[in-house]
Amino acid sequence: MAEQNENEITKLEQAHLDFISTVSHELRTPLTSIRGFADTLLTANDKLTDEQRTKFLQIIKDQSNRLINLVENLLTASKVKLGEEELVYKSASPLPYIDSCVKMLRQKYPNHKFSVESGKNILPILVDTDKFQQIIINLLDNAAKYSPENTTVTVKISQNTNENYVQIDVTDCGNGISEENQTKIFQRFSRIDSPLTRSVQGNGLGLFITKNLTEKMNGKISVKSEVGKGSTFTLVFPVANPEDACMKKLKE
Ligand code: ADP
Repeated sequence: MAEQNENEITKLEQAHLDFISTVSHELRTPLTSIRGFADTLLTANDKLTDEQRTKFLQIIKDQSNRLINLVENLLTASKVKLGEEELVYKSASPLPYIDSCVKMLRQKYPNHKFSVESGKNILPILVDTDKFQQIIINLLDNAAKYSPENTTVTVKISQNTNENYVQIDVTDCGNGISEENQTKIFQRFSRIDSPLTRSVQGNGLGLFITKNLTEKMNGKISVKSEVGKGSTFTLVFPVANPEDACMKKLKE
C-alpha cells in the first residue's frame, strides 16, 4: 500500500516536473527572441534600415502574441481541468455560430478555402455558445494550419442517426495523423514531431482544451485520419430538447 502511494507521488512529481519543463521551454523561446530583437533595436538602431526596424518590431509583436496565447491557453486548460470553468448553457442553432467562426478563419487564412455544408432542419443543441465557438475555432485553426494552402477545409453539420445528437465534422486535406498519434494529440502539450508541426506555431494545448470543453458540455470528440490523406475531427452534441428529436422523427 505504502509502496503504491509512493509510486503515485513519484508519478505526480514527474508529471509536475514535465509540466514545468515544458512551460519554461514554451516561455523561454519567445522571450529570448523578444529580448534579442529589442536589444538590437536599442544598440544598433542608427545602423538599421526602416525596413529592418519594422521587421524586428513585427517579430516582437508576433512573439508577444504567442506568449499571450500560451498564457490564455494555460489558464483555460487549468480551469477546465479543475472544473472551475463556468458554463452558461443555452439552446442554440449551431450554423450561425459556425458561420461566424468560419468568417474569422477566412481572414486569418486567406489562402485556404472554407466550405460549410448543413443538413436541413438541424435541431438546436444545448451548449455554452462562447465555449462552443472556442471549440470550432480550435478545430478550424488546426485544419488550416496543418494543411497546404489552396486546399479546402470543410465543416459538415448533420443530425446524428439517432436524432438526439447533432454531428459536426471538420475535414481537411492535410498530412493526416498516424493511428499511434491519434490518441496522443488530445493530451496536454502533445505535438507530433514532424517538419510541418515544427514550422507552425502551437503549444499542444488546443486539442486538450477542446476535448475537455466538449466533454464538459456532454459532447464527444473523435478523429479519423490517414497519413497523407487528411483528417476529420467529429464532434457530437446532444440536442437541447430531445422531445423535438422525437417529433422530427415522427414527421418524417
Ligand atoms: P497545437 O496546434 O498548438 O500544436 P493542438 O493540441 O491543437 O496543439 O494539436 C496537437 C497536435 O496534433 C498538433 O501539434 C499537430 O501535430 C496535431 N494536429 C492537430 N490537428 C491536426 C490536423 N488537422 N492535421 C494534422 N495534425 C494535426
